[in-house]
Formats: sequence, C-alpha cells, structure tokens
Amino acid sequence: MTREEYANILLPGVKHTWQEYEEMYPERNLKEGAIVSRYAPSPTGFVHIGALLTTFINYKMARQTDGVFYLRVEDTDQKRSIDDGINRIIEDLAKFDIKFDEGVTKAGDKGSYGPYTQSERKDIYWAFAKKLIAEDKAYPCFCTEEENKNDRAVQEKNGERLGYYGKWAKCRNLSMEEVLEKINNGEKYIIRLKSNGDFNKKFTFKDCIKGKVEFPESDEDIVIIKSDGLPTYHFAHAVDDHLMRTTHVIRGEEWFSSIPKHTQLFVMLGFKVPKYAHISPLMIEDNGTRRKISKRKDPEAAISYYHEKGIPNKAIMLYLETVANSNFEMWMEQNKDKSTDEFILDFKKMSTGGTMFDYDKLINISKNYISRLRASEIYDLALEHAKTYNEKFAKILEKYKDYSTKVFNIEREQKKPRKDIAYFSDTENQTWYMYEELFTPTSYEWQNINDKKEIELILNTYVNDYYNINDDKQTWFDKMKKMSESLGYAGDMKAYKANPDNYKGNIADVSMVIRVALTSKSMTPDLYEIMKLLGTENIQKRIKKALQA
Ligand code: GLU
Repeated sequence: MTREEYANILLPGVKHTWQEYEEMYPERNLKEGAIVSRYAPSPTGFVHIGALLTTFINYKMARQTDGVFYLRVEDTDQKRSIDDGINRIIEDLAKFDIKFDEGVTKAGDKGSYGPYTQSERKDIYWAFAKKLIAEDKAYPCFCTEEENKNDRAVQEKNGERLGYYGKWAKCRNLSMEEVLEKINNGEKYIIRLKSNGDFNKKFTFKDCIKGKVEFPESDEDIVIIKSDGLPTYHFAHAVDDHLMRTTHVIRGEEWFSSIPKHTQLFVMLGFKVPKYAHISPLMIEDNGTRRKISKRKDPEAAISYYHEKGIPNKAIMLYLETVANSNFEMWMEQNKDKSTDEFILDFKKMSTGGTMFDYDKLINISKNYISRLRASEIYDLALEHAKTYNEKFAKILEKYKDYSTKVFNIEREQKKPRKDIAYFSDTENQTWYMYEELFTPTSYEWQNINDKKEIELILNTYVNDYYNINDDKQTWFDKMKKMSESLGYAGDMKAYKANPDNYKGNIADVSMVIRVALTSKSMTPDLYEIMKLLGTENIQKRIKKALQA
C-alpha cells in the first residue's frame, strides 16, 4: 500500500487533491507591498474593545497599502458558536466604518478565495492533512482523552513539560499495519502532526511589532484534525491563511506563544510563512495591579457600554488609533484639515508591552470630536442615541428639530467651538432648560447676588426698561452695561478691579442673575444666544417664575 492509499483510508472521500486546491486559490495579483489581512472571529456575537482595535489595525493596514481585508469565520469550535453571531459582528463593525473587501457577508460569501467559513472547508483541511500523512508528517492517534489525562497527571507529578511529544507520543510510531488493524476494530482516531522540532534547539522569529524573539522549537505532536473531523485552530490557521494568501497575520498577543507551532506547520506543509504582528492587549488597573482588559470583568470592554454612554463611534476609533500609534494625536493636531484616513499606521510604532486603557482620554477625544461637528450632525447623533436610551427626550428632539439644532448651534460652528458635550447620554442634562416641557427647576444656582430684593430689582428693571428681543449682540451688551451702572454695579471689569469698594458688584454679577433666572443654572453657553432662542414670551414667563421661587 502506498502512503497516498493509506492517507485515503484515514481521511476518505475528499473531493480535491491539495494540488488542485493550490491551483484554485492562486497567489493574488496585487502590487508590491500590498497587505492581505483578515479578521477571523469565532462567531460569539460580541465585539469587544480589544478585538475592535485588532480589527481596525488589520483593516487599516490593508487599506493603506491597497491590499485586501477579508472576514473569515472561525467556527470549528462549535460549542462556542452562537446563532446569528456573525451577523452581529458584521453589523457592529459596519457602525465603525470597518468594511470588508472579501469574505463572509450577510448576503453570503464575496470573493474567490472562499468558502470563508471554516466549517464549510472540511474537505480542504482533509486534503492538506492527507498531504502530511502521505509524506509521513502526520499520523492517526488512538489515545483516548482518559489516557491523555493520565499522562498529563504523571507529567505534572514529575515536573515534566506537559503535552504529547517524545516518549509521550504513543501513537507516533505505530506501523501502517497496526493502524489499519485498530481501524478495522472500530477504534476512533484523530490526526496529529509528526513534529520535526527539537525542544532543545532555538530559532529566531521576527514579529512585525515585537521584533526579534527567540523561541525553542516545538516538538509537540499537536492535533490537526479533531474527532469531529474539523481542524484545530492551529491547522486551520495555516491552511486558510496560506490558501487565502494572507500576507500578514495581525492578531492578539494571546497567540504569540503559539508561534513555534504555527511556523512549524507552515514549513511542514510546504507553505511560505506569513508575516506576523502580535498586538499587545489593552490593560486596566485593578487594585494596584495591571491586567488585561477582560470581557467578563470589565463593563468597558463591551462596545455596548460606549453606545449606551453615547460616545460616537468615530471618537472610539480615534481613541483606538492613538492606542495603535501614539504619534497619531500629534499628527491630527498638525493636520486638522486632513482626513484621518491619510494617517499611515506603522507596526514599528506599536506598543510591545500593553497599553493602559485610558477612559479619560477617550472622553476627551470624544469631547473634541463632538465640538467640531456641525449642529445638524450633533442633532442626528443625539436623536439616534435618545431613540434607544431616552425615549422622552427623543420625542422632544423630534418635535423641535429646528429649534434643537439651533440650541446645539450655540457657540458651535466657529473657530473655538464649545466643548460641552462629551457623550450623548448627557445631552438632556445639558439642554433641558432650553425646552419649556422640561424646564422645571428644582433650585436656582444664584451666585454673588442672592438677596431676594436685589434679584427682584435687577430682573424687573431688565424686563421693564431694557430687554428687547430685536437687539443685536452689541446693543444687548451695551444695555446690560448701562443697567448695571444705573443700579450701582461696575459696567466694566477694569473699573471694578481698580475700585471694588465703589460698587455693589459688577456687570458679570448682574448678568448672572439674569442667566440663573432664565435657566436656573449658573453655567450655560452664551446668554445672548440663549435669550434669542427662548424668545420674549418665555423669558417673561421664566422671570416671573424666578421671582416667585
Ligand atoms: N479565531 C481566532 C480568535 O478569535 C483568530 C485568531 C487569529 O486572528 O488568527 O482568537
């Protein structure tokens, strides 16, 4: 019996040979330097912030080199897959403007390197497992889980390295006859790699981010085909990334220690080893120690956390881009008129030791980002957020679309825009006093002037003798000044500071009374603009209300 025939018995019924598969998935015809990268999630339906960072880097690397970015579904661990998991991932990523050139889409596969779902590629994995068996680089293993467990226990007890290698690899040297006999007896088997590595030998590996690192060779006879006929992650990674012609495997650092196994697989399969880039994790401080941000422990690991808070997706991306390359922020500062798409990400500038997740920085980026938006964009985002999280406020925004846009436009579309909104869950809190339906102050934040009589005097004088909705800003201000002086307050700050004792206070104290009476708040955007929007009727109503408070 030839080894090919033997391989056919072990993995029967494969439609194509590995050579045919090689021809079906030829080298991609891309310009030099083009990066082919991928996002390869298990369909668990949940994109967390670390995965988003990795995906973004993959996406951007392909984009900036005119390469290809594709989506592959890694569902060989069928226990972990959830229904609709992949659609949820696609939807989540689309919100962040991460789009795939190729791979799984909601409407099926797109591209000529598919199928892009691992459970549909069984035949392909088998073809390559057969290649290894035929070349005596893989073999069937009949060891039961029980036996493996016992061996592990002995290894642990003796302080030996764990795993299926060397003398522990019991099925490694079974002859073809022994194997065929076991199969005839109905014994179940999996397929293992016949490792050619020597654990006592070292090799140097060059990671795009981490640089050169020394590893011992792998001597483990790792499983390549499991008992359910599907490949392990390791084997599928090698076969898929080779056939899909991935140039760069950009993935989370948790895979770094698998490098000896993975590079060995590529070499033993006769494949060119792709470039690897291992992204260090986002870290969090927990009781004085640093640890990886965790899906289970940290609410801020979930993207839904930011959606609920109302941080715009674009702001999250800007933050992640600063995590990816710390010079990004400076670049943005220096290239305000350019699209961030023009920034070139560089593996060499990526962190090798883990980056602290900096929530305050994210909020700050969000605040700056929102401040540069147009009022109509802010309106849209605020409404979108409110529709999901604050129905009552959404109704108000919908009812007063024009008015709300004007409210958001106060101190907005100008050189130094107001940076009041950092996230949209706070919009009602910041603008409620601009809506009659919501204006029910529980207290008034009076400041320097809080004597009831004096407040009354100022408010009455203002409404009766000075206020006119048609005044332009300069007139409005001049009147405020004049009124202040007439009531014994300094009309300008210089005069006040020179002789504070000559006055009851100054123009700022007087206008504060009007501000608080109209909004109940001591901190608001520009009072003149607020008054313009509120209009005479409301102003009078509110002053009356304040006088009664
Ligand atoms: N399915 C693997 C994961 O979800 C992919 C790792 C890789 O990018 O190769 O971690």
